[in-house]
Amino acid sequence: MVTLRETAEKMDKEDDLARFRDEFYIQEGKIYLDGNSLGLMSKRAEKSLLEVVNSWRDFGIDGWMSGKYPWFHLSEKLGEQSAPLVGAEAGEVIVTGSTTMNLHQLLSTFYRPEGKRTKILADKLTFPSDIYAMQSQLQLRGLNPDEHLIRVGSRDGWTLEEDDIMEAMTDEVAIMVLPSVLYRSGQILDMEKLTKTAKKRGILVGFDLCHSIGAIPHQLHTWEVDFAFWCNYKYMNSGPGGVGGLFVHQKHFGRVPGLAGWFSSDKSVQFDMEHQLTPAKDAGAYQVGTPHILSLAPLIGSLEIFTEAGIERIREKSLKQTAYLMELVTQELEGMGFSFANPVENRRRGGHVCLVHEEAVRICKSLKEKGVVPDYRAPNAIRLAPVALYTSYSEIWEAVQILKEIMEKKDYERHEKKREVVA
Ligand SMILES: *Cc1c(COP(=O)(O)O)cnc(C)c1O
Repeated sequence: MVTLRETAEKMDKEDDLARFRDEFYIQEGKIYLDGNSLGLMSKRAEKSLLEVVNSWRDFGIDGWMSGKYPWFHLSEKLGEQSAPLVGAEAGEVIVTGSTTMNLHQLLSTFYRPEGKRTKILADKLTFPSDIYAMQSQLQLRGLNPDEHLIRVGSRDGWTLEEDDIMEAMTDEVAIMVLPSVLYRSGQILDMEKLTKTAKKRGILVGFDLCHSIGAIPHQLHTWEVDFAFWCNYKYMNSGPGGVGGLFVHQKHFGRVPGLAGWFSSDKSVQFDMEHQLTPAKDAGAYQVGTPHILSLAPLIGSLEIFTEAGIERIREKSLKQTAYLMELVTQELEGMGFSFANPVENRRRGGHVCLVHEEAVRICKSLKEKGVVPDYRAPNAIRLAPVALYTSYSEIWEAVQILKEIMEKKDYERHEKKREVVA
């Protein structure tokens, strides 16, 4: 019986990734289901951070080329180690910047409005920061966003239809920027199919991988995606403000970056200090200034864990966990006003479950008070992310029992119907 505690315990016993849970700092008395917003700290991420801090103490300026993790090549090295997570070839990934800054960099480089091909194709459900970046990129070029930014709409308010997106791929579109996984509903877009169609129509393709990196496998190189960008503080567990990453397909190697700086340089000549930039031959060219070494450091330890666990196994467990969570919700919370906004098919479901309830804001407050950490998205969504590396099946079971009790006792009614400043 799926609703029995013993079933969860049995699944934990049979779970070959269960040993990784001990690698993380699990907060006492808390069930953390918000790893899709900020991943928990692992002991290895903490260790690599401290090692890098110590290299500053021990080496001063020489830390750039000395110590266990010489800072000068760290961004490239971490890019290489991130490459398998996105299906990239060597040199196609660099760890740098933040999601939004990387999008600015990539649009500055690849968005070249010409003739009647002037438009950027996006969608109405995407993360606001991406839209702000696209709007400002248009404005910088003297183009009106109301006219040149196309946002494909949703039929149900939560998901997108690939057919609707493809229909919008006209000969007026220069470039397309879409999420791999939608941040609210957790829907996975069919990146391969969308890329193929865009390519046929002469449109460049970029994906925002914030909600898919570290949660699902990708084949960016094989699919011939032109570029992608992401943060590392969600499923990648590299800490608040951890440095992000980007991918540029090798067919674009050799371009001059739209936003250049001395770290865009080919490293062998960077210190010649010439006023003529010689850009790195690979994705390294999309760096701008001095890397944020202390915010890169936790990723060293975190990536080791991903390498050992393997993204395919992580995905397999994640699907099993979200399926288990949905089944529990369906059985235990029947008739209590919940529905799923996430797609239920494995192929289209990302790393989190999105529960919809008209009392979502107050339910989230109750959950938090009782030790379950969800994530609220206005106006009515509760995102729950069991994270394969550290969430147990028993925790999923427990969280649903707590939620059931909150609903039965109408505990949420004690709370104010207003979201917190940070939600
Ligand atoms: C988290 C997230 C961001 C955040 O951007 P930052 O520049 O890292 O603050 C952007 N886009 C999406 C889709 C996200 O999920």
